[in-house]
Amino acid sequence: MFTRRNYTLGLALLAALAVSQRARAGDDATDLLSQSDVKAALDAVKADEPQIERDQIRLCQIPAPPFHEAARGQAVKTAFEQIGLSNVRLDRVGNVLGDRSAVAGRPHLVVAAHLDTVFPEGTNVHVSRDGATMKGPGIGDNCRGLAVLLATARALGRGRVQLRGSITFVADVGEEGLGDLRGMRELFGVTLKGQVDRFVSIDGGGLFLTTAGVGSHRYRATFTGPGGHSYAAFGTPNPIQAMGRAITRISQMPVPGRPKTTFSVGRVGGGTSINAIPSECWMEVDLRSSSASELAALTARFEQAVELGVRDENSRSTSAPGVKVKIELVGDRPAGRTPEDSIVVQTAERVSRALGFSVPENESSTDANVPMQMKIPAVTIGAGGGGAGQHTEGETFDTTDAWRGSQYALLLTIALAR
Ligand SMILES: [Zn+2]
Repeated sequence: MFTRRNYTLGLALLAALAVSQRARAGDDATDLLSQSDVKAALDAVKADEPQIERDQIRLCQIPAPPFHEAARGQAVKTAFEQIGLSNVRLDRVGNVLGDRSAVAGRPHLVVAAHLDTVFPEGTNVHVSRDGATMKGPGIGDNCRGLAVLLATARALGRGRVQLRGSITFVADVGEEGLGDLRGMRELFGVTLKGQVDRFVSIDGGGLFLTTAGVGSHRYRATFTGPGGHSYAAFGTPNPIQAMGRAITRISQMPVPGRPKTTFSVGRVGGGTSINAIPSECWMEVDLRSSSASELAALTARFEQAVELGVRDENSRSTSAPGVKVKIELVGDRPAGRTPEDSIVVQTAERVSRALGFSVPENESSTDANVPMQMKIPAVTIGAGGGGAGQHTEGETFDTTDAWRGSQYALLLTIALAR
């Protein structure tokens, strides 16, 4: 019989059960630390830090611009083979995969780190080191992630860690820039379609836990006009000036702080010569929000800013043909969120507590966006250490206590596949 009293009792019982389950799971993470195979693996990965940093530097010095990750992918493939992963392979888009177990046990966990950088071909990728600080484009984001990915696979072997589930390690393409998560789309849509139960991406330095995937719209706007001699054809509407007017308006767009909503004109190009009115120029613009409706509103404001920039420039001249603009969507990343009570979020929090630190939760645009949108339990974690200047050529990585990040990745991997 359902009475108010029974109901209250039931609730109390449920709450007690939830607490005890949480406590038990919390103990599980602490218990894991006392198990000899896990302890051996954690010790091994800590002792492995010099090798991790060597890998980090070595991989970083192999250029991996967007859409050109193959050389770095080959180096990771060789490393996967040397570690002894099975079925080491490349998929159609260049993701590098290696399995921890030949038997397809469940849960099937994927641990991934992206290969690509934001830096174009020709960037000087030399890494320098000054004491605890390493400096080079991509050294933290994501050469740290790649090195810790390798270290995790290596330590599981060294500790002879017993796992019920299977793990596929993936070094993936297309996370940054205009890659538009193409590695993840292929992985979840084709390569391992329907096979992935849990997903962890290791991305950059620091200790954090990303549980929400920020959505983004990326545009390329191309401005064209008749062009002409800078002196003789003066008065002809100028595509670069139109773009400049548009950029001024974009830079003044209002955005809310919460949900965090952002814009950036990231790349521009075009022009013919210093003494020519250009016939063409272009810009690439990144718009982001963790809210789909704010992203839609921002997108509308951006399109209006571009149209008004063109209108203003064309209004200077009534005779000549005006500047035209074409706006193309070149990137569309899905937004997604992994619930707080999801196994991967809960486990990541327990694991970090067991290791003696807590991880701040954040929202970001990462490889995990794709599984998050598919409702596959997914998080992105930091690979330890610190640093500054991500996505700049002066990026640094601070190796101080960086081993904590390797242990975080390793223990989370074990706990999710145990
Ligand atoms: Zn990254």
